[in-house]
Amino acid sequence: MNNPSHGACAFETVKYYFNTAADQLKLEESARKLLMLPKREITVEVPVELDDGTLETFVGFRVQHNNARGPMKGGLRYHHEVDLDEVRALASLMTWKTAVVNIPYGGAKGGICLSPRKHSQKELQRITRKFVDQIHEIIGPDKDIPAPDMGTNSKTMSWIRNQWEKYNGFNPACITGKPVEDYGAKGREEATGRGVGILSYKLLKRLGTTPQETSVVIQGFGNVGSHAAKYMHESEFKIKGISDISGGYYAEEGLDIPAALHYYLAKGSLEGFTGGKHISNEELLAAECDLLIPAALGNVITMANVDDIKAKYIVEGANGPIDSEADAKLFERGTVVLPDILANAGGVTVSYFEWVQNRQYYHWSLDRVRQELDAILSTAFEEVWQLSQTNNVSLRTAAFMVAIDRVWKSAQLAGF
Ligand code: NAD
Repeated sequence: MNNPSHGACAFETVKYYFNTAADQLKLEESARKLLMLPKREITVEVPVELDDGTLETFVGFRVQHNNARGPMKGGLRYHHEVDLDEVRALASLMTWKTAVVNIPYGGAKGGICLSPRKHSQKELQRITRKFVDQIHEIIGPDKDIPAPDMGTNSKTMSWIRNQWEKYNGFNPACITGKPVEDYGAKGREEATGRGVGILSYKLLKRLGTTPQETSVVIQGFGNVGSHAAKYMHESEFKIKGISDISGGYYAEEGLDIPAALHYYLAKGSLEGFTGGKHISNEELLAAECDLLIPAALGNVITMANVDDIKAKYIVEGANGPIDSEADAKLFERGTVVLPDILANAGGVTVSYFEWVQNRQYYHWSLDRVRQELDAILSTAFEEVWQLSQTNNVSLRTAAFMVAIDRVWKSAQLAGF
């Protein structure tokens, strides 16, 4: 028998978390079916001429999971492992993520199966434009608003906007994560990592401890990991370990984070960084620390390594870094996990601010973005924390309960 794909595992994991929360809410089978099934799934062929004149055909996906609470929202991923199951899982997570932070969106996700590093910028631009040609009718400011994800960035968003506007006319709110000088929002780039830091602080406060007493290890030093490290260093957490694809860097007495950020910005990677002992990513996950932040890939904590994890608290910067069996084991032994749908929701929250600003043709200051982000995340955290206490469930189950309840109420109010 073939092993299930990474995407199929991701989808099963989300379904398991959904059903655990739905059990608590005593949700009927008919409601579960309505809420779990995607509203629409599209698979498109993207034929493109490469720079050397050869023809290559890529496969692109957009899954629109649920729009009960508003237009659907979700990133576009370029990665060689993208498949329909993975996009479906991530689209569903977006529905719960936007609901738990109570912003007026549903959930969607897209992806194209390709390795971005293997293509020139010109090829990536042609692939992106061709993909928009195939899906332009189903995306837009009031339907489904894409954003960056792994393998895409603000430049990709500008190409999408330009191609979409050829069909529909000027409307920068059709996409978020744009460059700041081209209708983007100040503070969008830092938002997910900053949110991880803000929420880690709130969690520790509720657990009766402080940043100064908390040692931290962060896996991944890209957009999420590096901004989380910056914010948390400034907030006086002791960051003992960081990592990227080149491995982990660890110092018992704490790393010099400004030096690591400087190195990463200059080199584009941590490879060769000498500010800490070089260890493997597996060793990094198992390192002695109070708080572990997986901020790279999905499925990095599984039954194969869960017994090695020493952290007392885990804040999920990445989407789906813990599989469902490992998650149950962590709960049993008292490790507190702040789940992805809340922990990394800072990015979609500031994407929402970008959409609001675009629709009003108005710019907010960075201070305003940060204040509003803090307010939304704090409210969401308190709601989830209180529910987890009153129902004696994990923070993950509580977050799903808050989200499912909101989406189900909207579906009922609309008369399905
Ligand atoms: P990124 O591409 O900017 O950074 C990814 C980091 O992970 C890089 O440092 C890379 O070197 C590292 N990495 C890759 N493979 C690795 C491996 N095998 N072992 C260790 N490290 C490895 O991506 P990002 O935007 O920071 O996203 C990271 C995660 O956070 C993803 O799961 C993404 O879906 C999730 N996320 C991102 C955002 C956002 O706004 N960027 C929002 C929500 C969730």
